[in-house]
Amino acid sequence: MVLHVNHESSTMNAPLLTPSRHLADTLRGRALAIGFDLVGFARALPTPRSESFSQWLAAGHAGTMDYLKRNVEKRLDPRRLEPWARSLVSVAVNYDAPAPRSLENHPSDCGWLSRYAWGDDYHETVKKRLHQLADAIHELGPEGTLTRVCVDTAPVLDRVWASQAGIGWFGKNTCILNRSHGSFLFLGEVVTSLDLPPDTPETDHCGTCTACIDACPTGAIVKPYVLDGRRCISYLTIELRGPVPEELRPGMGQHVFGCDICQDVCPWNRKSPRTERPEYQPRPGNVSPSLSGLLEMSREDYRARFRHSAVKRARYEGLLRNAAVAAGNSGNPSLLPALEKAAAVDPLVAEHAEWAARRIRARAGQ
Ligand code: SF4
Ligand code: SF4
Repeated sequence: MVLHVNHESSTMNAPLLTPSRHLADTLRGRALAIGFDLVGFARALPTPRSESFSQWLAAGHAGTMDYLKRNVEKRLDPRRLEPWARSLVSVAVNYDAPAPRSLENHPSDCGWLSRYAWGDDYHETVKKRLHQLADAIHELGPEGTLTRVCVDTAPVLDRVWASQAGIGWFGKNTCILNRSHGSFLFLGEVVTSLDLPPDTPETDHCGTCTACIDACPTGAIVKPYVLDGRRCISYLTIELRGPVPEELRPGMGQHVFGCDICQDVCPWNRKSPRTERPEYQPRPGNVSPSLSGLLEMSREDYRARFRHSAVKRARYEGLLRNAAVAAGNSGNPSLLPALEKAAAVDPLVAEHAEWAARRIRARAGQ
């Protein structure tokens, strides 16, 4: 019987199985054949990083990301998520498409989208592959094997499990870094009742480097391995729903969705391979979108343009808010008419557009 479990409340037990090296090797091969670049196994046990995660939450670094504060016990122990969990199959897909690094030769009337959002939404593309991997686990495992697919949608600390499974180490920028593939990686897991032999966690190879900390424009990496989400441009442009704190707006530069700076400067991303996968290649106009184009976009245009794209997470008003901040930081007076038009969208966008117009005029000495 093939049994997928896709809800959080299953209490089914699974047989305790002997770890099988042969099965693990076969599964690893299947994962690579499905299209994952990296695969590793970890035991479903309480995370060794529970203390640092709890301290990070207690320090308020999660900001308004209240979903991270929910189901903490499940995040810290996959057996609380699924009582039958024995192992996690952790996988990574390289999304580093061949295009410029952040803000390289960047025109002043254009914004910047984080490279993970250039192509198709990873929730959809990675999940599809994870379901294929779950099918392979059911095919290779004994009858009654259970699985649950996780990609950013379940309370699972995917970077912790990627590190435990030997995919990479936690960099000082808090991304998972792999020695050959760098850090532009989508992560996902299949939690399973299969008892798989765990891989060895990767050791830290950051050494004395501090490039990410030095390059972060908003000082979000408050110390090595600790990110204050509230200061991070990714949080400000994607997660934050209300106004962006004024003191952080100048540091956002021309980012309109996410930020790659601390990964672009990382030496481990210099020689990492670029992906040829069509789904992660930039859609037209997605790398450095015209700011006036974003500011003048109707809600309908937005829906059509960002269909099946991770950019949807910012929502329409949020993306226009970000485009207004980026326009203000560009100092480009040609964007003033588009800012005026965007101000009519709603009070949140209007406040940011007015801030941006004041900033452009001040820089132009008007
Ligand atoms: S993503 Fe950008 S803002 Fe966030 S820590 Fe990295 S460099 Fe700083
Ligand atoms: S830039 Fe340097 S310190 Fe930061 S994650 Fe990369 S190797 Fe580590």
